[in-house]
Amino acid sequence: MRQDKARTGKQWGKSEIPAGSRIKADGQKKGQKSPCPVAERCGGCQWIGLEYQEQLKEKEKRVRKLLAPYCSLEGILGMEEPLYYRNKVHAVFGEDRKHQPISGIYEERTHRIVPVDSCRIENRQADAIIATIRELLPSFKIRPYNEDTGYGLLRHVLIRVGQVSGEIMVVLVLASPVLPSKNNFVKALLKRHPEITTIVINVNGRGTSRVLGEREQVIYGRGYIEDSLCGKTFRISPKSFYQVNPVQTEVLYGKAMEYAALTGKETVVDAYCGTGTIGIIASDRAGQVIGVELNADAVRDARNNAKANGVKNIRFYQNDAGRFLLEMEAQGAHVDVVLMDPPRSGSSVEFLAAVVRMAPQRVVYISCNPETLARDLQYLTGKGYKAQRAAAVDMFPFTEHVETVVGLHRKDM
Ligand code: SAH
Repeated sequence: MRQDKARTGKQWGKSEIPAGSRIKADGQKKGQKSPCPVAERCGGCQWIGLEYQEQLKEKEKRVRKLLAPYCSLEGILGMEEPLYYRNKVHAVFGEDRKHQPISGIYEERTHRIVPVDSCRIENRQADAIIATIRELLPSFKIRPYNEDTGYGLLRHVLIRVGQVSGEIMVVLVLASPVLPSKNNFVKALLKRHPEITTIVINVNGRGTSRVLGEREQVIYGRGYIEDSLCGKTFRISPKSFYQVNPVQTEVLYGKAMEYAALTGKETVVDAYCGTGTIGIIASDRAGQVIGVELNADAVRDARNNAKANGVKNIRFYQNDAGRFLLEMEAQGAHVDVVLMDPPRSGSSVEFLAAVVRMAPQRVVYISCNPETLARDLQYLTGKGYKAQRAAAVDMFPFTEHVETVVGLHRKDM
């Protein structure tokens, strides 16, 4: 299924994927049957037809080439078991021609629903729960919502799974707030899936392409789940940002910490910090950590996460990372290490210029887009920094996306 828009999107033109006349645009060899029956209509797994080792080689080659002017690549860290890795699963609900409920994905670039029972990259428990909900609907007389007529109730189901904790959250996205026979529906769902730890109703009455609306009602459990990452605990609410491949997130953060080489004394900036995960993980090994993030909800989650982990040496600020760094500079603040994890568009010249002027000893750049990473490395390496080490991490097997982490240090150090 499609990746979260915030972290992914096109990185390489389809015509370039992967080079070689025997391979079609989706990585499928000619005459070969796809392992996924809806691959083409979904469009989420661009490389579904490529062997996993081939995917890794291709990603490594591309990152190596983009980084070549600045740094050599240590290699790509892939998954041992690259299937069923997504901890966040979304299904849209609708009806077929016979008015039977169906659930699945929107066909690429349309609002037509492609029925899906199981997906090779989604958590399997989540897929099974979605199938159960679909089966339960008729006996509870709950109709899926119809976007054209505006009739019906259930629009989407969103499931989030705690990889380590085993906690599972089910979010039922409804067009209006009342779920008939709510208690019996919850009972029936829990009977089939006692592993569910919380169920939330989210009301989305608007004609919008966003999955979640504003209003929420917790109908079972705590309304959120918790999961742990690198030994710290994080709260995941229906709307919180959380990396969708927790196994590889630990690998990525592990590399970032290795490159940061903290000794316990440093002042660290965690820029583009999201819900604070990287900064909180770094806090044990730093003197103090300052997190900055534009999204106010994420900053609130970051503060709660710090509190829940008893972290006392971290502060979070809601601001544009570039503007914030300028303010720090104006106040004469000293920074030893900058950890940065910008969105796909990369960082801003304002931010990078402030980094250069503040001259931290080390910069660790985590990137979900090697092209903007290369652009930003050109800037930093032209202004006193040397890119010393780099590794690619495969966070999204079967898709064309790849994460990269680069460790830079000041040349005069
Ligand atoms: N480091 C986090 C999140 C990285 S995603 C993690 O690993 O979980 C990139 C983050 O950058 C998003 O949370 C986004 O809201 C934030 N962001 C985007 N533009 C920004 C800006 N100009 N200043 C600060 N944060 C920004």
